[in-house]
Order: sequence, then structure tokens, then C-alpha cells
Amino acid sequence: MLVFNTQIELVSYLNSISDQKSSVGFVPTMGALHAGHLSLIQESVKNNSINVISIFVNPTQFNSVEDLAKYPKTLDADIAKIKTVSSSIIVFAPSVDDIYGGKTVSQHFDFDGLENQMEGKFRPGHFDGVGTIVKRLFEIVKPTNAYFGEKDFQQLQIVKNMVDKNKIPVNVIGCPIFREPSGLAMSSRNERLSVIERKEAEIIYKTISQTQKLFATKSAAAVSDFVTKTFKNHPHFELEYFEIADEATLKSCVRKNKTKKYRAFIAVFVNKIRLIDTISLN
Ligand code: AMP
Repeated sequence: MLVFNTQIELVSYLNSISDQKSSVGFVPTMGALHAGHLSLIQESVKNNSINVISIFVNPTQFNSVEDLAKYPKTLDADIAKIKTVSSSIIVFAPSVDDIYGGKTVSQHFDFDGLENQMEGKFRPGHFDGVGTIVKRLFEIVKPTNAYFGEKDFQQLQIVKNMVDKNKIPVNVIGCPIFREPSGLAMSSRNERLSVIERKEAEIIYKTISQTQKLFATKSAAAVSDFVTKTFKNHPHFELEYFEIADEATLKSCVRKNKTKKYRAFIAVFVNKIRLIDTISLN
């Protein structure tokens, strides 16, 4: 399997193998790969002749120094996992310097307000960091199709917005959330949970699944109230936010509108580890 650590080498290799008939599939990741990432990679391999996976822990999208420092780095294990999908996948694992050239700063973006909700509210600057790295990686890889998880639904909408506005010729494809048998959404951060915390974290999916049923008959405010109460007296879990939002604009649902699609979004802290999940309510 080919692993490139610099954009110059990657671009020169891609130029040497691609022709007009090639379709380039791309899955950007921050590594510490799990079955959720692999499901995106499989989707890419199924639909493209050339497949590139990037592994890059992007510093500009972290708003907590501690979170960045603790982010797991497991490149050898990641490469072994990618090989189980296909040995012809191209891995791009650049250094921070190779990507940012000594100036590790974000570009500022206007995502039509999508960036001001939920993750954007609680992680200031996060989506400028995401926009900066995704745009940069798209310029380097020039993918035909790029795969993103619905686990980070807000990120998916933001990437679609950026691609439309900047007229970047790539299809952005959303892929379903891959879950553990308990329902817990797979995440690189799950590795930092203790055995007990991981078991207790089942409450996140259980709760949002209940909101799916409740929302059929109750108002958004009543459903939010249910979630707040569920976490209020929990000894280990702290609710950061729960939102029911319009899937297209990500604006909070105040009054239900039958023509709109809604989604529940949740972020909780367990022992300083931040977990997010989301579920469609329609
Ligand atoms: P990350 O490495 O966390 O930046 O994630 C890389 C990509 O994998 C993003 O598009 C995520 O949305 C996606 N992803 C992460 N976890 C899951 C999951 N459990 N199911 C599906 N996609 C996921």
C-alpha cells in the first residue's frame, strides 16, 4: 500500500496514474480509525477507481489544547485497517508543516449561518478550521467523490455549503452513522472511555432514539425538556446541548413545520471526553 507524507509526492503520483476515465474517491479522516471510518472507505472503494484516505489531525479545528494533545495517533494500526479493505488504497498522512507551511491558522468562512449553531456555538472557530483543511485537501487530491459521515451532520452540511459557494467540482456524499451493537456511535474518542463509561454511554443513543418517538406527538420544547431531565441527575454525564433543528438550515425548531425535515443533535461530556450523536426525526 502506498503512503505519502507530502503533498508534492501525492500530487505527482496521482497525476501519473489518473486519466480522464478515473474517478477519485476521497475520505478525509483524523486517524484512530474504527469501523465507522472503514464504512466510508468501503463506500469509496465501491464507487471509484482511485481511492485516497487522508490521516491528518488538523490543529486548527481544535479549540481545546488538551483535546488536541490527547487525540489518539495510531498511524501503523490505521494503515493495517485500511489494508483490510483494499491494498490499493492510497494513504496521505502529511505533517502539519506540509499542510500549513509554518502558518497554522484558519481561513475565515461564511457558511450562511450553519456555523453559528450547535458545534459552532460551543467550539468557536471549529468550522473555520474544518473549512480550511477540507478546502486545502480538496485542492490537493482533486477528488471526484468525497465521503463524510452523518455522525458529524453539521460538518457535512458545512462542507456542502463550501463546495457550492466555491464551485469546487466534487460530489460530497453523506454516509450513515456506524454504531456499536449497543447503539453508541463509533468515535475515535470512545477509546478514551473506561469500560464502565463506555457501557454507560449507551444512554446517549437510547435517549435520542426516544426523542425520535416523542417528537411524533410532542413539541420540540417538550422533547428538549425530556432530554435535559434525563441527564440532569446523571452522576457521570453532563449534557452540553440538545437541539432539534431543521436539517437544511440547522436552525432550532420552534414550531413544527410539516414540510421540513428535522434532526436531533446532542453533545455530552463524560469525564472531559466530549461525545456527539444525531438522529433523523422524520
Ligand atoms: P474524524 O476522523 O473523526 O474526523 O472522522 C472522519 C470522517 O469519518 C468524518 O466524515 C466523520 O463524520 C466520519 N465518521 C466518524 N465516525 C463515524 C461513524 N461512527 N459512522 C460513520 N462515519 C463516521
